[in-house]
Amino acid sequence: MKLIFERGAPGRGCDLVPPCTLPLPDLGGFARTAPPRLPQVSETELSRHYTALAGRTRGVNGGFYPLGSCTMKYNPKAGEAAAALPGFTGVHPLQPAQTVQGCLETLAQAERYLCEITGMDAMNFQPAAGAHGEFTGLLLIKAYHTARGDGARTKMLVPDSAHGTNPASAAMAGFEVVNIPSLPDGCVDLGALRAAAGPDTAGLMLTNPNTVGLFDKNILAITEIVHAAGGLCYYDGANLNAVMGIARPGDMGFDVVHLNLHKTFATPHGGGGPGSGPVGCKALLVPYLPGARPECLPEGWRWHRESHSVGDVKAFHGNFLVVVRALAYILTLGREGIPQAARNAVLNANYLMSRLRGHYDLAYDRPCMHEFVLTLEPLKQQTGVSALDIAKALLDRGIHPPTMYFPLIVHEALMIEPTETEPRETLDEAADALLEILAEARRAPADLHAMPRTTPVRRPDEVAAARKPVLRYCWEGPAT
Ligand SMILES: *Cc1c(COP(=O)(O)O)cnc(C)c1O
Repeated sequence: MKLIFERGAPGRGCDLVPPCTLPLPDLGGFARTAPPRLPQVSETELSRHYTALAGRTRGVNGGFYPLGSCTMKYNPKAGEAAAALPGFTGVHPLQPAQTVQGCLETLAQAERYLCEITGMDAMNFQPAAGAHGEFTGLLLIKAYHTARGDGARTKMLVPDSAHGTNPASAAMAGFEVVNIPSLPDGCVDLGALRAAAGPDTAGLMLTNPNTVGLFDKNILAITEIVHAAGGLCYYDGANLNAVMGIARPGDMGFDVVHLNLHKTFATPHGGGGPGSGPVGCKALLVPYLPGARPECLPEGWRWHRESHSVGDVKAFHGNFLVVVRALAYILTLGREGIPQAARNAVLNANYLMSRLRGHYDLAYDRPCMHEFVLTLEPLKQQTGVSALDIAKALLDRGIHPPTMYFPLIVHEALMIEPTETEPRETLDEAADALLEILAEARRAPADLHAMPRTTPVRRPDEVAAARKPVLRYCWEGPAT
């Protein structure tokens, strides 16, 4: 397929911006000397180009997308309609609060519902995504210990079943990361946790359900051990899809939590953004929350900043329209629909897992939450067919591959998250496809290495794509 730069001809165009008739300001030496080299295409060419690109894009609207740890669920169009309302899109964050009362109330309502769902006392929407929320939550823990003059608490306990962003965020927030191993059942090793917790423990970060799709059955013991040692407990709630409306981190002893609104509470996120990773906390951490939160006074809504705030972690109030979609989602589903969505997510994952059991090797053979992990290690040893080969073969059948080679504690991992929005027929089609591919792998393993056969790009050089990405178009010849 041609790039947009390779289409069109000099002088062709479809710009809608009229030429500037005002005097140009003096930009000193910074003004460009030649016009920018932009594609010169007609509107027809432009439209066809993007339509062709859209046709090649694989998204939730095009087919099954079981990318584990990402919650690629179908997003209701009602949320898009809400986020497109002029009252939300035609405002500026520097407007006086009295002129944007509805926006403040929207944030306050979203805060109230999400606090109810998580069991927290307050929440702030500044963080732009999950990892950013983790970092912010850890700053709260740090500020808490510092304010108490407890400077010895420098260590963050992170189980090896945590999401990869957890240790990274802890290190970025200035903590020393202490790795806590899991037992063969996929749960945190309580003995190792007891041995590690002590007067230097700032806190623990728990991903729950963890990256192997399991709810840690010892969760109350975990938070007790950390609290007894004087640490605080952080709940990575990015994957709240399995537990929302059913169990609350606040009731399990957690002091701070982040959510991924762009996973659990609508907002399409396949293209890389925007996201929203609000951080919620118990009362003891509220004085340190970042940014501003709406507060209701008799004369109306206004912004309130905390006295000991860690400061701003993003401009203004975060990705506001993602919060609007989340609120629309919560109001649409309601008190009954939210836990029903969680139950269906868990049911769908267990249904697909049980259709594959006995054929594929399950990394942990016990009921899962919203996702489960296969290990292709035995198959690779028998046939040479890897997790990557299976993922590529799925592409030929119109299915987006599951997450591959993550979590790291499982060899040749395929992590599958069907989500609650798939009907049973889709799950059956996916199971049939995976079982057919497995039969093919045993019959003719070499064929699997040559897949996919139907995609525009078959097997990119993964190392070159990561190490030497070509991100810029290189023009040939002089400017025209
Ligand atoms: C996706 C995810 C994150 C990171 O969220 P981003 O929005 O990608 O930064 C963190 N923890 C868990 C458990 C996740 O699934």
